[in-house]
This record gives sequence, structure tokens and C-alpha cells, in this order.
Amino acid sequence: MRKQFLTPGPAELYFTVADHMKQAIKDQIPSISHRSRAFEEIFASTQSQLRKLLELPESTRIYFTASATEVWERITQELILKHSHHYVMGAFGQKFHEAAGQWNRTATAVYENFENTHVPPEADLIAITQNETSTGMCFPIEQLEALRAKTGAIIALDGVSALPGIPLPWHLVDTAYFSVQKAFGLPAGLGAWLLNERALERALIRSNPTLHSHYHDVASLEKFWQKNQTPETPNVLAIYLLGKVAEDLNRRGARIVQSETTFKSTLIYDVLDRHQFLRPAVSSSAYRSKTTIVVQSDMHSQAIRSEFAAKGLIVGSGYGARKTDQIRIANFPAHAKELFYQVGDLLENFN
Ligand SMILES: *Cc1c(COP(=O)(O)O)cnc(C)c1O
Repeated sequence: MRKQFLTPGPAELYFTVADHMKQAIKDQIPSISHRSRAFEEIFASTQSQLRKLLELPESTRIYFTASATEVWERITQELILKHSHHYVMGAFGQKFHEAAGQWNRTATAVYENFENTHVPPEADLIAITQNETSTGMCFPIEQLEALRAKTGAIIALDGVSALPGIPLPWHLVDTAYFSVQKAFGLPAGLGAWLLNERALERALIRSNPTLHSHYHDVASLEKFWQKNQTPETPNVLAIYLLGKVAEDLNRRGARIVQSETTFKSTLIYDVLDRHQFLRPAVSSSAYRSKTTIVVQSDMHSQAIRSEFAAKGLIVGSGYGARKTDQIRIANFPAHAKELFYQVGDLLENFN
């Protein structure tokens, strides 16, 4: 039986990926030089499709990295001067907080309290997770607006598992990043790191120039970006596929993809709100993620996952310590509305 992956990453591939991969092999894309004209065209095309999809100005830098995990380290080295302040709603926000500490930045954190907009005055960067994939919490846009109004610190947004199903509030942040194996519906192995001009400037004028000479420092990413290239031999196939899927999503229209995300999440939360014994793990509806729906399923978790699996539907377990008492259902652009009607029915009728 063909499975459908409702896991929050790696996740179901976007339905056009298989055809794009076949075409890429036919066109011998994995064999072309990353210094060739052909590669530069792929690079430029992926940049422009992403810019359209995420509504980014021309000047936005999109650098390619190995993963979002890599970007935590790059942001720490390149953008945090001394002190970062992290809004931590789960394991991924926590990992960034720890990464900053490991690179000798002083780093403070607020745990699961978005309303606390008190930012330490010494903070020069604020780290926010748009959608915390481990707990199913999202960062409310109003809080982001409040923070933006209150501080001059650079704001960094982790968009993994949110983008492109949720709009990117680019005017409220300076840098953002994602890896492709979650909401973009692509094979793992590529990250994208976005910087506005303010973030770029800070990275380029960092006072200690010796800090710049490391793998993927902004000075070298920028030098090659100017030529539609990357410093190292990149994952050319992944950059190509990202551009193609972004193009397909643009054809559907970002706004439509995003309103379908809202529609599908409402469908499931409505079922959970009325359910006899299942409920959303996040009690406040303002903090509930649209793209990673976490169900408090207690001792029913395994039974639910098995029942779904019997229909070929693979849902995620809870994350970390919540492995056995929660399940996670991804709601990404690769997941059709019809699939969500089925998921809603299965949850509703589970007893
Ligand atoms: C998965 C995830 C990451 C890490 O992504 P990698 O591709 O494993 O580096 C970071 N942040 C969030 C919110 C995630 O869901």
C-alpha cells in the first residue's frame, strides 16, 4: 500500500517532486559543474521563485546551507554580537538557545510565555520560532509586532515547518530560515537562510574580521551569491527541486496555499474541540500551530497511530518526552484537502 506521510518532517513529498527528479536526471543536472552557466541559471531561478512565493524584496539574500541546524550556528557566528534572547516554546527553540551558548554568546530565554515582551537591553538579536514543531505552538503575529515596535535588536525567525504554508512576516524580521523536508515537501539535505539588508550589513561589518573566516561565513556566501553561485559544491539537485516546487506553488498561488492550510487546520481543531477524549495539546487557540497539529491523545496514542497506519496514513508520535501521550499531524501544502477530510473523520470516529 502506498503510504501518505502526515509526519512533521521528513514529510510527504510535494506531488510534483517525482516528475521533477526524473526530469533532472534526464537533463543530467547532478553532473553539471557548480561553476557553470547552467548552474547559475538554476540558482537564479530558485532565488526568484522563492522571492515570489515568500513575497521578498529583490535585495533579500537567500543563501543555501545544509540545514536549519547549520543556520543556528551561522546566525550565532555572524549576527549575534554578544547577547541573544530566545523565545523557547519547545525543543527546536531550545536547541538554538543552546547553540548560541556554545559559541560564547550570553543567551537568555523566555519559556512558553510570548506575552512577556521584556527584552534584556543588552540583547542584540531575538530568536523566534514561527512554528515550534515539537509542541505545536505558533508565535502569534501580534507578539511579533509588539517586539518589533519595542526593540532595535535584529529579529531572527525559524520558519521550518511554517513556510510556505504560513505567510512570512518579513517586514517584522531581519533574517529567517528553513529546511526543505518539512512544509516544502522535498527530500532533506538543504537549508535556506534569508537576510535583509540590515542583517547583511551587520554580518559584513562585524568588528572582528577573523571571525569571518569560517565555513559559510556571510562574506564568502555573499561573494558567491553575487555570481549566482555557492562557495562549496552544493546540493545542486536539491536547489533545482526547491525552485521547481516553489514554481508549482506559485502557479497555485501562495495566498491559496495559505488559506487551504487554515481551512485544513480548522477542520481538525474543530473535531478535537468536540471530541470525547482527544484534545489539542495547546489549550489556547491563539497559540495553536496551523501546520503541526499536536493532539493530546494520552493512552490512545498507539491505537490511533495503528488505526491510521492500517489505512496507509503515517502520523507522527509526540516529540521527545511526549512520544507516547501525544501525536503530531502535519498540515503541509503537500497534503490535499480530501486527505484532511479523511483524517478528520478517522479522529472523529475513534473511540
Ligand atoms: C526540524 C526543525 C529544525 C531543524 O531542521 P534540520 O533540517 O534538522 O536542521 C529547526 N527548527 C524547527 C522549527 C524544526 O521543525
